[in-house]
Amino acid sequence: AQAHIAAVDAADPLNAYIVKTPEKALAMADAADARLKAGNAAPMTGIPIGVKDLFATEGVRTTACSHILSGFEPAYESTVTQNLWDAGAVMLGKLNMDEFAMGSSNETSHYGPVKNPWRATGSNSDYVPGGSSGGSVASVAGYAAMGATASDTGGSIRQPAAFTGTVGVKPTYGRCSRYGMVAFASSLDQAGPVTRTVRDSAIMLGAMAGYDPKDSTSVDRSVPDFEAALTGDIRGLKIGIPQEYHLAGMPVEIETLWHQGIDWLKAAGAEIVDINLPHTKYALPTYYIVAPAEASSNLARYDGVRYGLRDVPQGGGLADMYETTRGQGFGPEVKRRVMIGTYVLSAGYYDAYYLKAQKVRQLIADDFRRAYEKVDAILTPTAPSAAFAFGDKSDDPIAMYLNDVFTVPASLAGLPGSSVPAGLDADGLPLGLQILGRAWDEETVLKVSGVLE
Ligand code: GLN
Repeated sequence: AQAHIAAVDAADPLNAYIVKTPEKALAMADAADARLKAGNAAPMTGIPIGVKDLFATEGVRTTACSHILSGFEPAYESTVTQNLWDAGAVMLGKLNMDEFAMGSSNETSHYGPVKNPWRATGSNSDYVPGGSSGGSVASVAGYAAMGATASDTGGSIRQPAAFTGTVGVKPTYGRCSRYGMVAFASSLDQAGPVTRTVRDSAIMLGAMAGYDPKDSTSVDRSVPDFEAALTGDIRGLKIGIPQEYHLAGMPVEIETLWHQGIDWLKAAGAEIVDINLPHTKYALPTYYIVAPAEASSNLARYDGVRYGLRDVPQGGGLADMYETTRGQGFGPEVKRRVMIGTYVLSAGYYDAYYLKAQKVRQLIADDFRRAYEKVDAILTPTAPSAAFAFGDKSDDPIAMYLNDVFTVPASLAGLPGSSVPAGLDADGLPLGLQILGRAWDEETVLKVSGVLE
């Protein structure tokens, strides 16, 4: 814990931590020592981790990196972090992220961008770490945490893991409790781990997961021993290659990486099967209707009364308080989502956009269901590019949204997936491969991930 507290300070230039909790870390490490001595250590006992600022931590500032939650200190702990503390993990601090987890580059945070610890060969410029879990991946890749909690609504665990050479796992929707996670899009949000190895992710996910009566969408299923799934034996497994993921104009190095992954899995005894996910092209537009719709509803609670920021103009009334608080408190990307979400939910447009998107979402889930009648897992690139430079896409929301093309379909279907580091691009930046699995079959996802790692 002491070494990690020093590492957290040394990593300041990354801007990964927005709150540091060294005293807490030392106290928790003492408790872990006592537990080890008493012979009742759990899998995470003494392991120092960072917490994405989206998870409510009792008495520790939790803002989802939004100005509107400035100064908010929750009176309760999220279930996922409580599970980790119960397993003996040690808290290093709170990690930077895109505001309310809306973004793919960590450039929308109220606390400024996070730097990717990786740089292109021979270059002095900084790259984005991906998003929205930018602080989570940068802290882990930068050796300022053994692991970090993260959340994935449309790719926010997998894409930043790919950009930083780390492992990220998004479990099946319902596997981890959402209690105490600041809500973005409730039907999509899932917690998961970011670590440096697949084994670490298996152990950490095991500690995070589990049924929680405090979240009505948490599912009452036993949590398997994920570590035991890492047998390295994938002989006879059928791995699907979705033809629709061969995008026109995709960089050759991404295609090359994908083929490399196929060869590795074949060499390990898996059977490669071409599959079709015909509604893939509708996933991005569907996601960017469903997610903002849910966000606009979830974010209605930030009214200047209940949490954080309150801004009332001199002599102003209730409506002025709402307007100024929300006007000051939300950043431009959040406002964009609220406007899109309100629009697609409004009378006259609901049927054309929101209802239609819900129907297409079902078709996307059906595509996967049919594919999993033929294959045990699916292999794709995690993102259509490596990490990009700051400012590259921040003025162009559509270009930013396109980065989520390979991650959103599984999110819409609620299915588990991972990203594993699989190579470097021509500039020496990390690239990731995505492994998707059947609902509740994180074990196969992890097993295949372990072979690719
Ligand atoms: N980049 C996507 C978005 O901005 C996904 C974010 C996430 O998974 N939290 O909505």
